[in-house]
Amino acid sequence: MSVNKKLGKCPFCDDGYIEVRRIEVNAKPTKLYACSNAHWEFEHDMCELSTQSSCSYRIFANQFLQWNKKSIGENEIRTVLEEEQVKIRLYSSRVKKEYYKWAILDKEYGLSIVWDIDIQEDDK
Ligand SMILES: [Zn+2]
Repeated sequence: MSVNKKLGKCPFCDDGYIEVRRIEVNAKPTKLYACSNAHWEFEHDMCELSTQSSCSYRIFANQFLQWNKKSIGENEIRTVLEEEQVKIRLYSSRVKKEYYKWAILDKEYGLSIVWDIDIQEDDK
């Protein structure tokens, strides 16, 4: 039996860990960072939480694709689980420039971007 890599404690339940799962969405391989108490079932591009799940938290690695971030990395997930925020690099195809934003934990959406705070690459 293979054990999934654990990246940190689930922020939304008592005993869950966020683990890395490899999935396919629209026939493209990507990663899902999901709570060990969240059992997601995938069919085509639909996903559904199974009835044994006691938590629903998950982050899709490609959830910021529309802002040209192809994949959220495991280190970024570790950071956001520890510090509740992580700096992410996005890319504007309109002005052809990269920019940085904070991403924070979001129970429903996995992570969400803090749009109204501008940050620089070297801000901590
Ligand atoms: Zn959980």
